Amino acid sequence: NSSAVFPSPPVSVADRDYFIALRERDTGMFFGRPVHGRILADDIFNVAQRRSDASGRFDGVIVVSALPSYFTSFWRKISRQDGAMTVLSRHDGAILARVPPANVETPPFGATSPFMRAIDMSDSGTYRATSLIDGQERIVAFEKISDSSLYVGHGRTVSGILQTWHHHMVVYAGFFAIGTFGLVLLAVVAERRAAREAAAVHHWRKAAQQLTEEATHRAAIEAQLHQAQKMEAFGQFAGGMAHDFNNILHVITGSLDMLKDRAAPGDKPLLALALDAANRGSKTIASMLAFARQQPLQSEVFDLNATVCDMESLLRPALGSGVKLDIVPAKTPCWVRADRNQTELAILNLALNARDAMPAGGTLLVTVSCVTLTGAPAGLMGDFGAVAVKDTGVGMSPEVQARLSEPFFTTKGPGKGTGLGLSMVYGFAEQSHGAVTVDSAVGQGTTMVLYLPFSQ
Ligand code: ADP
Ligand code: MG
Repeated sequence: NSSAVFPSPPVSVADRDYFIALRERDTGMFFGRPVHGRILADDIFNVAQRRSDASGRFDGVIVVSALPSYFTSFWRKISRQDGAMTVLSRHDGAILARVPPANVETPPFGATSPFMRAIDMSDSGTYRATSLIDGQERIVAFEKISDSSLYVGHGRTVSGILQTWHHHMVVYAGFFAIGTFGLVLLAVVAERRAAREAAAVHHWRKAAQQLTEEATHRAAIEAQLHQAQKMEAFGQFAGGMAHDFNNILHVITGSLDMLKDRAAPGDKPLLALALDAANRGSKTIASMLAFARQQPLQSEVFDLNATVCDMESLLRPALGSGVKLDIVPAKTPCWVRADRNQTELAILNLALNARDAMPAGGTLLVTVSCVTLTGAPAGLMGDFGAVAVKDTGVGMSPEVQARLSEPFFTTKGPGKGTGLGLSMVYGFAEQSHGAVTVDSAVGQGTTMVLYLPFSQ
């Protein structure tokens, strides 16, 4: 009997594979190989079940014919990809339905085909193979349909997958490019801004530095001005005093001179002593006037080397017994042009300062040399006689060194120092177109050098 046509035409299914198999024994649901239907006159595959009577004997089959097109049209709806392949197959490789279409003539999957090898190994998975049916290379995913001997597989062409992938990549690359461009733009803007800010900060720093430099410069100039005013006031004061004192000394020396002739022989030594003292006073006054620049220096040409060597007899008693004196003369005479008396006085001043710096004794080294200078120290150029006075005393801090030329600057106690010695030495050196240098450190001793120009 058949549900398709009634009454059923006289056809036999005795030769169909499901009939032969189910007649032998009950295999459960049997999926027959695709055939050309004898009643429906279309490609079909049959799903059959055995009928058994009460004693278990074969009593025919119940068959449902399925149209492969039912599956293929459904598959076409859910997968539109070009070249996609979907297949429903039996475990022995017989193809029941397929997209792209197959028909009853389509050979089953061979025993060595990738599909058969894949389902041999597992109930589900993927493989990659070139189809024997349409020659397309595909990646296929397959799975066994539960409680049956059927498998469903879905494959997509490698070229199709790559195409889709490329298409997506182009879209992603587009987004990526836009994003990157945005970031680069942002970076450029930020960089420009940072550069502008850095330039502003630099400008600001420079302005601040200039201001600081100006302020420092101004302070230095003010200090110099202050010092110059002080020197001028002191010069006027000293000049005035020296002038008056000089007049008084003239009266004293004149009077003593006249008294000398009339004095009793016993008083003569006393008078000579007084006259000598008054003359020394005159010399001191003369140096004060020189400092105040109110009396021209008695410039003359003399050998500095010989002059210093001659001072030994003067220096030795002045230094006291605790200080050893060494005088190292130059190898040749040093013919300098300066005031000879003032030169001696300056060297004496330097030596006395050295003595004061060595209360526990030490060595005073006086070295004479002829040197050629090229701009240093103090911008001096040309040939000079130099007297270096070097002690092994307490030395000086930079603060003290900075104030040496200042009149009345002293670190010595009241009654011990006047602070006028070095200011005289500096003033004299400058007026003589020479210079004084100091090289000292606390605890390291001091070397002071007096430079006087050679006579031309
Ligand atoms: P005074 O000797 O009366 O103090 P000076 O003008 O001669 O004045 O010296 C000024 C100061 O310089 C001294 O008080 C002393 O502090 C310092 N000084 C000068 N020469 C030396 C030296 N050779 N060693 C250490 N300090 C010195
Ligand atoms: Mg002194």
